[in-house]
Amino acid sequence: MSVFSLPDFADHEQVVFCSDDASGLKAIIAVHNSNLGPALGGCRMWHYATEDDAIRDVLRLSRGMTYKSALAGLKLGGGKSVIIGNPRTDKTPALLDAFARALNQLNGRYVAAEDSGTSVADMKYLAERTPHVAGIEDKPSHEAEGMRSGDPSPATAYGTFFGIKAAVRRKLGRDSLDGLRVAIQGVGNVGFDLARQPKEAGAELWVSDIHAENLVRARTELGASALAPEAIYAANVDVFAPCALGAILNDETIPQLHASIVAGAANNQLAEVRHGSALMHRGILYAPDYVINAGGIIDIYHERIGFQRAALLRHVEGIHDTLLEIFERADREARPTGEVADALAEERFKR
Ligand code: NAD
Repeated sequence: MSVFSLPDFADHEQVVFCSDDASGLKAIIAVHNSNLGPALGGCRMWHYATEDDAIRDVLRLSRGMTYKSALAGLKLGGGKSVIIGNPRTDKTPALLDAFARALNQLNGRYVAAEDSGTSVADMKYLAERTPHVAGIEDKPSHEAEGMRSGDPSPATAYGTFFGIKAAVRRKLGRDSLDGLRVAIQGVGNVGFDLARQPKEAGAELWVSDIHAENLVRARTELGASALAPEAIYAANVDVFAPCALGAILNDETIPQLHASIVAGAANNQLAEVRHGSALMHRGILYAPDYVINAGGIIDIYHERIGFQRAALLRHVEGIHDTLLEIFERADREARPTGEVADALAEERFKR
């Protein structure tokens, strides 16, 4: 495979292949764009079937981080890293030591954070060996309910709630969520924290999850009604908030949707780019996932610049106005919201 000719390679500044025989480290670090600042992005550890799969994944994800940080108004570029291996069996102190050395060699051009297969504890371990790590500080959550150890989920949920409010304002012409019907797919870390917020604003909740204990918690603590996983798409609601999996907006699910708004935190919700047009043609307002779920990266950024809770909250709440700008421009130009978001991001980071 030629790396240079891969579509996702486009515009990458630097892709570094790292190996260390003694520890077995095989990693790829991709710096997509650093015009706005150092390239920050998660470090994923996964037993990829092939090295080509790992290369495709890291390139696609690092590119996405450039767009996400640009639209979140951060002085950060986009990057990502992957460690090839099974996170349960191959992650050793020696392997993390070798990865920390690789980060030091890049001298801050790339900053790593937690991702699938790595944990905040891993990042704390790396941070003892390199300064080029983020998402590790214990800080108060947005509700000041105690200390959290670098977990960005509460900020992600908070931003997603403001994104839902922006979509409701644009699509339904109202500022209150009182009496609205909201369905949340996946009540895990982000979904459960999100669910509380429309509930407190007077909305009625429907939830789905594949773990019964999560449904019980949502029912007992929030009075939510539980739906079977496959029933959530056709739920008779105003807002559908995907907070579980990617690729759930596809040929099969889009025709079933009853909601006029899709606004949730899950990554890569559109199975393919064309599904953004499919939603638009059905008159469904879609909040581009990487814009609405940017609370987590904003949280990590604030840790880097000196954490102040009030400043973080103001910044995360800005997702509301960014989305309104995207929605208005999408209507004006009759284009899908995802396309408009990409264009706006490029105007910011290519300048
Ligand atoms: P999580 O694993 O805590 O929660 C996901 C929940 O979805 C789990 O409760 C799981 O049981 C449930 N689920 C899985 N398959 C399902 C299905 N078919 N139907 C219904 N529910 C199902 O993960 P999370 O941290 O809450 O993240 C949720 C989504 O948001 C992911 O797509 C993630 O990539 C994205 N995201 C998270 C953050 C963050 O700060 N955690 C930031 C940006 C994006």
